[in-house]
Amino acid sequence: MPDTPSAFLMEFPYRPEIVDEAGLHFDQVVEQILNKNYDIKKVPELKVCKECDLRVYCGREGVIRLGEVDDSILSGQR
Ligand code: SF4
Repeated sequence: MPDTPSAFLMEFPYRPEIVDEAGLHFDQVVEQILNKNYDIKKVPELKVCKECDLRVYCGREGVIRLGEVDDSILSGQR
C-alpha cells in the first residue's frame, strides 16, 4: 500500500460547461426547497432507498413500500 499522501490523489479533468450545468441544477434544487416543493416525482431505484436514512419516513408516508425495501436489505439484494 502506498505511504505518501500524493499516492491517494485523484485527478479529474476540469470542464467549465459541466461545472456550469451542476451550478444550474443546484440552483433549481434550492429554488424547489425554498418553494417547499418536496414532491417525489419519480421514486429512486430500490437500492437507493435501501441505503437512505429516510426510508422509514417514506414508508410511513406511502412513498415507498417499506416491506419491499426491508426485504431486500435482509436478503442482501442490490
Ligand atoms: S427512502 Fe425516500 S428519501 Fe430516501 S431515496 Fe427513497 S424515496 Fe428518496
